[in-house]
Amino acid sequence: MRSKIPILAVLGRKSSGKTTVIEHLVSELLKRGFSVATSKHISHRDFSIDTKGSDTWRHSSAGANPVIAVSSNEMSIIVKMKSPKIEVIPHLVQSFGANILILEGFSSMVMDDKSVGKIICVRSLEEYKEFMESARGNVIAFCSFQEVGKPVIKISEDFPILTEKTLGFIERRLRILRILDSLAGLDCGKCGRKTCEEMAEKIYLGEASMDECFPLRIKSELSTRVSIDGRDVPLQPFVSEFMRKTVLGMISSLKNVSIKGDEEIRIEVKGEKKSI
Ligand code: SF4
Repeated sequence: MRSKIPILAVLGRKSSGKTTVIEHLVSELLKRGFSVATSKHISHRDFSIDTKGSDTWRHSSAGANPVIAVSSNEMSIIVKMKSPKIEVIPHLVQSFGANILILEGFSSMVMDDKSVGKIICVRSLEEYKEFMESARGNVIAFCSFQEVGKPVIKISEDFPILTEKTLGFIERRLRILRILDSLAGLDCGKCGRKTCEEMAEKIYLGEASMDECFPLRIKSELSTRVSIDGRDVPLQPFVSEFMRKTVLGMISSLKNVSIKGDEEIRIEVKGEKKSI
């Protein structure tokens, strides 16, 4: 999942201890200076936080979307969506200042996602074995209320171990996110990895270097540079050349302009058009 903040998911069946684990992690992470947001997957199909007949429900029924209810100490944002997209959650919580996101549930959406650190709560040894076979990528720990035996962490008693493992994941993830932020972010595959995320992980492990990011390497050789508010936008050679030719074509058609094609041309695009 594309996110600029580390994401953890606490997964497991009903009554396996997910909420207890999240309560513990939230308080431990807050103590260490993180701002934590959580999100819970609700499996009831017709669930709504809104109450039928309320003013906000009436706004929504009239077609308003989103509807935002604001009281003196709370803001509730009700967004109607056909199939809610989990990808918006990290961006949303980040805009409210959170720098860690913990998900409760969402198993089918995050189990294969290597960027999400998973803590899996089990109710028995059998369930642990079952999850061991299906769990993929970045499993931080298994937890249980029962005495399942190592490596399953006993909920409450062994919480310091869980905290340590979680902090280890967060530290590693923050480093990978910093690397990812410095790569071109085009997911072009020209470094031999499918995504920039995969490449960032390899760089973190010391198995690759930044020079292998093709758009970064050729940046100085490109004939076009685009930056938005001072931040460079990575360009593929084809796109760079296409822009160069389009701009040269437009400019050469201007009155009293004669160009050879090797001049340095600067175009600035500012905010909204002001009435003159
Ligand atoms: S070459 Fe750079 S932009 Fe392309 S996938 Fe690799 S890291 Fe990402």
